[in-house]
Amino acid sequence: MSYTAKVLERAIKNNPNEPEFHQAVTEILTTLAPYADSRPQYEKAGILERLVEPERVIMFRVPWVDDNGMTRVNKGYRVQFSSVIGPYKGGLRFHPSVSLSIIKFLGFEQIFKNSLTGQPIGGGKGGSDFDPKGKSDREVMAFCQSFMTELCRHIGADTDVPAGDIGVGAREIGFLYGQYRRLANTVGGVLTGKGLSYGGSLVRTEATGYGLVYLMDEMLRRHNKTFEGKTVVISGSGNVAIYAAQKAGELGAKVVALSDSGGYIYDAEGIDLDAVKEIKEVNRARIGQYTNYRPNAVYTKGSGIWNIKCDIALPCATQNELSESDAEALVKNGCIAVGEGANMPSTLEATEVFLRNKVLFAPGKAANAGGVATSALEMSQNSMRMAWPFEEVDRKLKEIMVNIYNNIDEAAKEAGQEDNFVVGANIAGFKKVAEAMLAQGVV
Ligand code: NDP
Repeated sequence: MSYTAKVLERAIKNNPNEPEFHQAVTEILTTLAPYADSRPQYEKAGILERLVEPERVIMFRVPWVDDNGMTRVNKGYRVQFSSVIGPYKGGLRFHPSVSLSIIKFLGFEQIFKNSLTGQPIGGGKGGSDFDPKGKSDREVMAFCQSFMTELCRHIGADTDVPAGDIGVGAREIGFLYGQYRRLANTVGGVLTGKGLSYGGSLVRTEATGYGLVYLMDEMLRRHNKTFEGKTVVISGSGNVAIYAAQKAGELGAKVVALSDSGGYIYDAEGIDLDAVKEIKEVNRARIGQYTNYRPNAVYTKGSGIWNIKCDIALPCATQNELSESDAEALVKNGCIAVGEGANMPSTLEATEVFLRNKVLFAPGKAANAGGVATSALEMSQNSMRMAWPFEEVDRKLKEIMVNIYNNIDEAAKEAGQEDNFVVGANIAGFKKVAEAMLAQGVV
């Protein structure tokens, strides 16, 4: 049995009941196989065995009191996966579906994503099964303060720097940061995604969505195509989806659909983003309300967004939201490119469909790396006690995304698999991490 196959088998056996983690490890180890199996120094140094085992897993109780005076308890997690190239870095997710398996899959992917940005950041991820939806601001604050009361002893500007993810936006980061500052009696870059008035970076809010479109734009251009005049379908209507839609529109595309966990909207004339921002960012309401703003738009309950005909699809909601049959529907309708704004939104089978049909496919760890890359720029500004202008951060973000494209393209070609950016991203991300591990000895 090959080295990668042995590690994969053991990782699955040793981590039972963690399907999402199994899926992420399977995807990475399978595509890395020809590369890693032909380099015996990796097996000798146990590189893959060490990589699939987090450096540290922290699980904790988060008690808080709701508006009725009742005590509630949630689970808290921080998985510190790898600090071999820099401090652990990765978001916090607050969503009822959060489990150890989901946090481990996200933390594992984060190692390779952060490596791809070219910045000195390691991989980590955290979160809670707390659901901010429907909670008052006071309840969210009480939860965040309790969560940070435990987390604060494990993080630090040079140790572990969390950020936002699903359910953790500007409001939550503000409450978390305030509590950290109070408990640690220190200010600085311990969290990213901070407000502009207390150390945040311009462009961080837009970074993941903009970065996704910058990378896809580069990929399309290298294949003699552009966003101009294309029809785009985007799932989700949160931070990533909104700013991907904005940038795609600026580049001349027409975004016709967005969704949330309740259903999706279709607006043949092109989505009115001001309306979406008011619904989602101001009112924290459901996407279905869009038809109050644009009566000609159609709201459909449930999933099904991938049946809408489009040239470019950008899944920006959550893991495994795009199945094999969704991928087949997209291909049948003439979709030429798919860029993953979310983490692992396509199932393994869906990814296969895209690759088999020569759809230009950018996996999440490359396509959505703009968020964490800009978080690293926020860390740099915090260390220097400076704030760069919007244009400067945006230019750096664009440069980083073009570099990522170049690296994954080159790695795919070197592996003899031109245009297979899954292979390209995994090898390019892995190489740097493996070299750093070899250099640092058995730790
Ligand atoms: P938000 O919380 O801002 O938005 C998430 C969106 O996805 C909402 O529209 C939400 O709908 C929808 N969604 C969430 N869970 C589900 C589900 N189970 N089924 C259907 N729809 C769902 O999160 P972000 O935009 O920040 O994150 C979206 C994705 O992008 C995630 O995979 C995240 O890991 C990834 N990502 C985010 C980065 C960032 O900088 N924010 C960076 C890199 C990746 P509803 O409101 O109904 O729950």
